Amino acid sequence: MNYIKIVINELGAIQTNCYFIINENIGEALIVDPADKADYIISKCAELQIKPAAILLTHGHFDHIGAAGRLKEAFNIPVYAGAAEKELLSDSRLNRSSIFGREPFTEEADVWLSDGETVELAGITVKIIATPGHTAGGICFYIESENVLFSGDTLFSGSFGRTDLPTGSAADLVSSIINKLFVYPDFSDETKVYPGHGPETSMGYEKKNNPVLTAAPAGAIPPASKQSEKRGALRGFP
Ligand SMILES: [Zn+2]
Repeated sequence: MNYIKIVINELGAIQTNCYFIINENIGEALIVDPADKADYIISKCAELQIKPAAILLTHGHFDHIGAAGRLKEAFNIPVYAGAAEKELLSDSRLNRSSIFGREPFTEEADVWLSDGETVELAGITVKIIATPGHTAGGICFYIESENVLFSGDTLFSGSFGRTDLPTGSAADLVSSIINKLFVYPDFSDETKVYPGHGPETSMGYEKKNNPVLTAAPAGAIPPASKQSEKRGALRGFP
């Protein structure tokens, strides 16, 4: 019986996907990447009659964390983020809010997560997969019961995250996707992937078609300008 429902909200200046992972049995939800527009998220939760239990951050860029502080306060819930993302979250220059945002801001997690860790929140088991590269502390969230992965800005439908921002690493990103996600023992071709921007995809499709595959043999991925061309609609997102 499928009791978990996923709701996608596209929010903020660069159309970031903010996800609600809802446990319909108990009416509680996890909020993945509260991008922006806290008021909208709060009213959406009321409309759906869900009670948020935690905020999960795939990484610390401003366009993924913009509403985290206000939601944390409004719902009195904890924020979870990758342990290696502490520096980026706490520095408005590194998280890009001082450059792209309306106002510089920082964020602090209540719980710092490590690779391979499993957390139980709102009756949902979430597995943490560290995928450095887009940022040093980027993580993916895997829900085994639903066979769905929230990939942040690591893996996109037909694309991958840029690596030219602070703490980014092309070699790490290629390795995170090819040596970790593409061979992750729990995944199947049917594993659904919900990225930080753009449409959902599947692990099977990306394993065959993602441009990271052709970038990999050279040991490096194309410079950011070429990446942007490949990303098309996602050009210029941070
Ligand atoms: Zn990002």
